Amino acid sequence: MPNAQDPMTNLLPEMAENWQKTLNWQPTEEQQARLQHLYELILEGNRQLNLTRITEPQEFWEKHLWDSLRGIAPRQQLISSLEVGASVIDIGTGAGFPGVPIAIVAPNSTITLVDSTRKKMTFIDKILSELALNNAKTLVGRAEEIGQQQQHRENYDMALIRAVGNASVCAEYTLPLLKKGGLAVIYRGTWTQEETTALQDAVQQLGGEIESIEQFVTPLSNSIRHCLYLRKVTTTPAKFPRAVGIPTQKPL
Ligand code: SAH
Repeated sequence: MPNAQDPMTNLLPEMAENWQKTLNWQPTEEQQARLQHLYELILEGNRQLNLTRITEPQEFWEKHLWDSLRGIAPRQQLISSLEVGASVIDIGTGAGFPGVPIAIVAPNSTITLVDSTRKKMTFIDKILSELALNNAKTLVGRAEEIGQQQQHRENYDMALIRAVGNASVCAEYTLPLLKKGGLAVIYRGTWTQEETTALQDAVQQLGGEIESIEQFVTPLSNSIRHCLYLRKVTTTPAKFPRAVGIPTQKPL
């Protein structure tokens, strides 16, 4: 049995060529060290909290690290606005994905990590302090409430959401938080053309439009993934997001 404490068995693969080929980018030595440290902290946290089932180094690299960064690299370019100080919010971040890897690679952006589970956010606070990541902070709360708060509504350049709900729920959680011109990134596994058609009306009601949908293949296990990019084009009507629980019970 590999020992969770043994640094040799818990070494992340470097994947320099893979990063270069897929995202036209490579982590610096410091970023690689932080990604490695993040991995170790999550393995350690997993012993108390149910954070993730993905613990093997290659799988962690692909499903958590690579996938998180692939979402902010439409057309295989890590989004350049992140280099000039974008404000980003990650809704339902759980163990910190996709927000924490993005905070590591984009030190000039500020990332707000939101989750309704307090104990997960307490754990993320510990991660942020151990990694000395001062461009990220946590917020305990529900997307439906935060989206109605003046200090958060229409306040972000980018809103990210992975594995939180169906796509129209994700649109209702993210679009109210964006400034006009901002971008929501919805991370998905499978996706079909029929789903795009069904999502269009919800996105329009929320003041957005579907800008693009990218399908890609993950570099190690060759799994199919999708990212939906929604652009905020006009102010979201005040009634959205609806009260806690309504978006999931009655999706737009
Ligand atoms: N984004 C992470 C975690 C996904 S699990 C990842 O991809 O690995 C979904 C997370 O969303 C859970 O931690 C849950 O607590 C949180 N969540 C679900 N509904 C939410 C809501 N309405 N507001 C805030 N967080 C929510």
